[in-house]
Amino acid sequence: MGGQPLFILSEDSERTRGEDAQNSNIQAAKAVAETVRTTLGPRGMDKMLVSDSGDVVITNDGATILDEMDIEHPAAQMIVEVASTQEEEVGDGTTTASVLAGRLLAKAEDLLEDDVHPTTIVEGYHEASRLALEAVDEITLEADLDDELLQQVTESSMTGKGTGDIDAAALAETVVAAVQHARTDDGVVRDDITVRTQTGAGASATRLVEGVISEEEPVHADMPRDVSDADVAVLDLDLDLREAEIDAEYNVTDVDQLEQAISAEEEELRGYAEDIVDAGVDVAFVTGDIEDRVASILAKEGVLAVESVSDDEATRIARAVGASTVGSLQDLEGDDLGFAETVRVERFGDEELTFIEGGTNAETVTLFARGGTEHVADELERALNDAIDVAIAALDEGGVVPGAGATEIAIADHIRSGAASIEGRKQLAVEAFADAVDVIPRTLAENTGMDPIDALVDLRTTHESEGVAGLISEGQTGRVGDPIEAGVLDPAAVKREAVESATEAATMIARIDDVISAN
Ligand code: ADP
Ligand code: MG
Repeated sequence: MGGQPLFILSEDSERTRGEDAQNSNIQAAKAVAETVRTTLGPRGMDKMLVSDSGDVVITNDGATILDEMDIEHPAAQMIVEVASTQEEEVGDGTTTASVLAGRLLAKAEDLLEDDVHPTTIVEGYHEASRLALEAVDEITLEADLDDELLQQVTESSMTGKGTGDIDAAALAETVVAAVQHARTDDGVVRDDITVRTQTGAGASATRLVEGVISEEEPVHADMPRDVSDADVAVLDLDLDLREAEIDAEYNVTDVDQLEQAISAEEEELRGYAEDIVDAGVDVAFVTGDIEDRVASILAKEGVLAVESVSDDEATRIARAVGASTVGSLQDLEGDDLGFAETVRVERFGDEELTFIEGGTNAETVTLFARGGTEHVADELERALNDAIDVAIAALDEGGVVPGAGATEIAIADHIRSGAASIEGRKQLAVEAFADAVDVIPRTLAENTGMDPIDALVDLRTTHESEGVAGLISEGQTGRVGDPIEAGVLDPAAVKREAVESATEAATMIARIDDVISAN
């Protein structure tokens, strides 16, 4: 064999190996996790994110921040994924999960420096994560999830969010009402609850609409704007002349023929309106267009008709009123119609919205959230969506745990006791995991302006004597106490998911020793 070098990668590709690869991955992922750390907890700060085009987002929400940051580094991307998985799975705890993942990696870095093999770290982390889940189960509250607990867990998720001029307690009440309203024996269908924001009023004007809101308004000024006991049709079609007829050329040679052609059109359009009226429709939501002449006949007949309804909205309306969506007027029958107690049009600034309330399917609700400005309304929408997820997770996915860092203190404690019986270097990794979990109470202390070391010591001592200890934020400062008494609770599912997704990302990144990128 000659001294010919063997090229398996294209000249453009870049490769980093071994410690260098590990280092750069860990640094990048840590840096990303660090960014959201200051937003954690009720005293956390907000971030302002400005896009290329100058759009501004102001938020406290971990997943949103990471999503808006436009992160390129592949390992850093995995932290973004931790946040988005957390958001998808349980809807809250995104900051907790990404901060934990960053801390697990920082600890892994120390272990690698001490020559602990990546595989040992991975095994140790998995063992520790199992212990962590055990601890979550142990600390989960036994009590039935009554309205008071539900109110508390929902409110905890909103404390410190930019909710405008309304306090978390009042918003939480609206959220709980929405979730209770949407609840059936089989749990809550998330799609039954929608959040719709509208600027022009303070957040305190936020209210629960027992039904759906349509973005569209009546197509004709003379249509009724308030219909009670409405029979509602959802039509997936256009109410205008069929394409073929518009394109057809008329060889009009005399006035009679012209009149015939026009009256044939009129006839057809009148037919559409009659089909709708004859079927007993009071209100029609149409996904396509409604021709002016059809609209004007419908208006004369006292029918409220709305055009250009989006598919999503049509689906939601049909579900709320119990209508079947009809694709052709020939098929329209009384059975297809749904029912709503009221359909009402309301003006907001230069926009009109149609409220469909008291539908046959009473589970469907909309949180109509108001905010003075676009930014307030947007952040309110995120906070409400999180809060809805939190209430549902608490109700349907395994109850609640004490918040304010208490669950993390219990997790770290449980892992440390478990570590004692683990042999060899793996024990170091298990202990490192426990240390990493401390980042949550420590960050809550920092963000509250307390000394993190003193707070941690105090928390551990109190946990030892009382069995539960959190760092409850009160006004400008915090105190160590019982979060259950203070009503600071989190869904158990949020903690479980955070442990699982942070462990997964950290072990995946720690195991990589070769980064090959095609340029
Ligand atoms: P995440 O994105 O992880 O949900 P948050 O900024 O919402 O981040 O903060 C959640 C943490 O704040 C949880 O650990 C929760 O228990 C805690 N928390 C909520 N309310 C309080 C409070 N009044 N005092 C102390 N901690 C609180
Ligand atoms: Mg939260």
